[in-house]
Amino acid sequence: MNELTGNRIRTTVGKLGLPHLAETINEYTRRADEAKMGYPDFLDLVLSEELAVRDDRRFRQGLRLSKLPHHKTLDEYDFSFQPELDPRKVKDLATLSFIDAKANAALLGPPGVGKTHIAVALAVAACRAGYSIYFTSLDDMVRNLKAAEAAGRLVNKLGTYLRPSVLVVDEVGYQTLERAEANLVFQVVSKRYEKGSIILTWNKTFSEWGQVFGDEVLATAILDRLLHHCEVISINGPSYRLKNRLQAIERETDVA
Ligand code: ADP
Ligand code: MG
Repeated sequence: MNELTGNRIRTTVGKLGLPHLAETINEYTRRADEAKMGYPDFLDLVLSEELAVRDDRRFRQGLRLSKLPHHKTLDEYDFSFQPELDPRKVKDLATLSFIDAKANAALLGPPGVGKTHIAVALAVAACRAGYSIYFTSLDDMVRNLKAAEAAGRLVNKLGTYLRPSVLVVDEVGYQTLERAEANLVFQVVSKRYEKGSIILTWNKTFSEWGQVFGDEVLATAILDRLLHHCEVISINGPSYRLKNRLQAIERETDVA
């Protein structure tokens, strides 16, 4: 490729907003020469590589904005440690069709069984598929909404929890809410109802729902909207955190 053409292509792709192509055009033409590629194959190569770079950039930017606590995947989840949990149920969720349907997913179980791990893994998969994600604990969400309400900025702050395609609400049930706090949760849940998915982790059974959301009527209203379209996965098994701790303690006592 002569220098004049090369420069003109670099300027044009810059204007088209394809910075990666501006850097790699020489590499692509060299590969095309080597492989004696035809024009359609060359164009296909350039466009698909550019799209892959753009998707990857969007994915990494999405992860940064998501506030996910880590980026663990389902491959890192050892299903053999939870024999009562049917892997197919989780893998079904990982197809993300519930997000397409604007339905919810709830992961129930005691501490350490991997509820947050699975919720995050689903969120990472959704982010890769192009959905926007926001992760929060219930506690942080309520605290932020209360502070915003006190400062007269509630509508603005609600947007943080209403805009993303998927809202992950972690650690529901650890703490009892007052009526005003439960009302803020109701606003999020009712405004997202049939508009955007919620993935939540919950460390109690649904029958204890009323205790968390102080007021029974409000609790029922929240539960009603959350569960109308919701995949529920209960994980009843041992804590993975304790497994590692107990093995370490056993090793120490073996040595002693
Ligand atoms: P929970 O939210 O249910 O309290 P977490 O998802 O925080 O539990 O899991 C606790 C830790 O144990 C995390 O580091 C998580 O990655 C890990 N973990 C839990 N269950 C498994 C599992 N079955 N296989 C691999 N790692 C697991
Ligand atoms: Mg957790």
